[in-house]
Amino acid sequence: MPEPPAATVAAAPDRPTARQLAAELRAGKTSARALVEASLAAIAATEPTINAFISVDAPSALAQADEVDRKRAAGVQLGPLAGVPLAVKDVLCVRGGRTTCGSRILADFVAPYDATVVARVRAAGLVIVGKTNMDEFAMGSSTESSWFGPTRNPVAPDHVPGGSSGGSAAAVAAGETVLALGSDTGGSVRQPAGYCGVVGLKPTYGRVSRYGLVAYASSLDQVGTLSRDVYDAALLTQVIAGHDPHDATSLDVPVPDYSAACHRPVAGLRVGLAREHFASGLDPEVAAAIERVARHLERRGARLVDVSLPVAGHPEYCIGAYYLVAMAEASANLARFDGVKYGHAADAPSDLLAAYVRTRSEGFGAEVKRRIMLGTYALSAGYYDAYYLKAQKVRTLIRRDYDAAFTGCDALLTPVAPTTAFRLGDNIDDPLQMYLNDVYTVSVNLAGIPAISVPAGVSSCGLPIGAQFLAAPLAEEVLLSVAAEAERGTTRGEP
Ligand code: GLN
Repeated sequence: MPEPPAATVAAAPDRPTARQLAAELRAGKTSARALVEASLAAIAATEPTINAFISVDAPSALAQADEVDRKRAAGVQLGPLAGVPLAVKDVLCVRGGRTTCGSRILADFVAPYDATVVARVRAAGLVIVGKTNMDEFAMGSSTESSWFGPTRNPVAPDHVPGGSSGGSAAAVAAGETVLALGSDTGGSVRQPAGYCGVVGLKPTYGRVSRYGLVAYASSLDQVGTLSRDVYDAALLTQVIAGHDPHDATSLDVPVPDYSAACHRPVAGLRVGLAREHFASGLDPEVAAAIERVARHLERRGARLVDVSLPVAGHPEYCIGAYYLVAMAEASANLARFDGVKYGHAADAPSDLLAAYVRTRSEGFGAEVKRRIMLGTYALSAGYYDAYYLKAQKVRTLIRRDYDAAFTGCDALLTPVAPTTAFRLGDNIDDPLQMYLNDVYTVSVNLAGIPAISVPAGVSSCGLPIGAQFLAAPLAEEVLLSVAAEAERGTTRGEP
């Protein structure tokens, strides 16, 4: 039994949501400037302990806020979230500011353009306050591998916030901003949301543009949202979702009304529970929390169904296939960081090869190097068939498992992670242990399906527990309906 957390920075559960702040803005009860000033004050008070941000641009945030206030005063029609402060994971390009990816190699890289999601949040009048901390190049599950030092969990600062979007989850949990953007390649939005007690939504692969998201594993990466509640996740996803000609994998299908889905009754929906997910290794307190969510949904008229995931439910297949595919793609994607075009370059190298070797040796941290080497190995002649090709075949089987599961149910309910947040330093020297933490999240990215992580109570020592819902491709509305109902059950304290 872990000891209780040492201290708590996390805020009162009655702190306003983005929806409430937006209503106050519309009613003239507050201004975008006042909200940004409050956000900057919270950042000043919280950062010495939590370290959720890599950079904060107060002058730019205040200028953006003043612009929204000016437009509102002039009667300009504004989007529903105009004037609400937002944090952006430092893997998304924001023009004119540093985009570091938590890495030394990009520590001084200034992005020349806005990622599509960044352009969209700007156009919607959201105010970008700063860039959040992350595992280096989004490779990790704890935000401990950042060149800028670890982020701490606001609920219990001697525990990790999860990762790799740990800075975004911590910023929202600590009330530094009410909303944040993250990226999710194998769970990096959902797992930190679960560990910090906030909501994390990873949309269907292709639902949100990846243009301007620095690539980790391109066939798995997706931008997602972190928020205080499910309704806010719907509002922010509405802003960022939709087709983008700059991303060849972006889906050209209409974006439904996500906030309406949050009010849709769950009666008649079939919620699947996979028996494989409740096998050994799952913390009994997490299992009990998931069970409570299931019972609440049942009382609201949902039907619980037993599901089997013969491949997708097994860690040895999911973790193996995911880490092979992710590392293979990472080894190719990170080849561009060679000191010639972007970021850090070694001083006075003797020749070109020395320039590459020294730049990359100095610029990348240990975990990123490990993955580049393993990924290169898995793709090399003679090993390709044994590793990479086999992983792709397992990926197909995982996708088929989910296709079959969603013929018998509308959503699957699973844990987000096998345990609550672990302590800083506990897993950082044991990569396999760290990878195993992703057992409930990685198969979702291999299948390209959407998933949401929603708070499901706290453990006996006060650490947040997350519940995860998965749905068929483009069924985000189903996710929002069941997650909003689960949240009503948890926040009302219903058993
Ligand atoms: N923890 C997983 C990894 O390290 C997932 C990271 C992510 O989703 N970016 O690859």
